[in-house]
Amino acid sequence: MTRSPDKYYSARILDRRDVSADLCILLVDPGGPLEYRAGQYATLGIERDGVRTERAYSMVSSPYEEALEFFVELVPNGGLTPGLFQLQPGATLLCRKIAKGRFMLDLWSGRTNHLLISTVTGIAPFVSYVRTICRDWKAGAGAMPGEHKLFCLQGASHSFEFAYREELERYTSEVPWFQYVPTVSRPWDNASWNGETGRVDDLLRKYTEAWKLRPEQTTAYLCGHPNMIENSRGILQRAGWKKDAILEEAYFQAGAKKVSPSA
Ligand SMILES: Cc1cc2nc3c(=O)[nH]c(=O)nc-3n(C[C@H](O)[C@H](O)[C@H](O)COP(=O)(O)OP(=O)(O)OC[C@H]3O[C@@H](n4cnc5c(N)ncnc54)[C@H](O)[C@@H]3O)c2cc1C
Repeated sequence: MTRSPDKYYSARILDRRDVSADLCILLVDPGGPLEYRAGQYATLGIERDGVRTERAYSMVSSPYEEALEFFVELVPNGGLTPGLFQLQPGATLLCRKIAKGRFMLDLWSGRTNHLLISTVTGIAPFVSYVRTICRDWKAGAGAMPGEHKLFCLQGASHSFEFAYREELERYTSEVPWFQYVPTVSRPWDNASWNGETGRVDDLLRKYTEAWKLRPEQTTAYLCGHPNMIENSRGILQRAGWKKDAILEEAYFQAGAKKVSPSA
């Protein structure tokens, strides 16, 4: 199949920060104008030996920023990430010219509380929401945040995976409309961790009560690992959340067959 070159920009990696051996933050110049809204994703790709591999990545950056920012996890034997992790600043990659996705902040239902739940890299769209609203709030421009309040729970096995913790904790102390709680599921591997422990879905009931979140006033957003999404959806539905008040962005399919790099 021939590729239509018109669909892609030649994007360039501007900067890269390795959070751990299998997590990195990439700053990318898309190579042309890429319009998007907080919560949407870009499609990045690499072409090798005439074979193009592309995947979706949520923007961490706010549309107010010039560069795109991504928080990427290496999937051993994955089709794209092993190659992506070899790229250093200056390297080029493909970026589709159109951003996609409907995982935007729900400003249409009338619900003004937003419960944001993620595993590791699933924090990306939530950072984009908060950066964007923060910028509007500080400028005193526009209607945001108005009555809207954001409550964010992030789960990970290890505390070093919370790459945006410092930034999100700073917002928590600076603005009245945002709360952030990170939780580690393997506290025995995190000796110096004195924050919340347990899987993020197991903490949902505790925090919906602590934050006094009621289904009729709260939209829930589930982003990242499909098992977390499934468990959280069940917990929320049993607590009274209707389907239309739960938005989901699964990063992959649970139990999908692993592919070899050559597949
Ligand atoms: C809307 C959307 C937004 C996304 N945003 C991000 C993002 O911001 N950051 C990010 O890192 N990823 C994100 N992803 C996932 C991303 O698109 C790729 O699927 C992921 O990077 C793996 O790509 P790969 O080609 O290396 O592995 P693949 O060849 O796609 O997958 C190989 C195998 O590993 C499984 N798999 C894929 N990802 C994981 C994982 N994280 N953990 C365990 N198994 C996995 C697959 O189901 C498959 O069985 C997003 C996905 C979607 C649909």
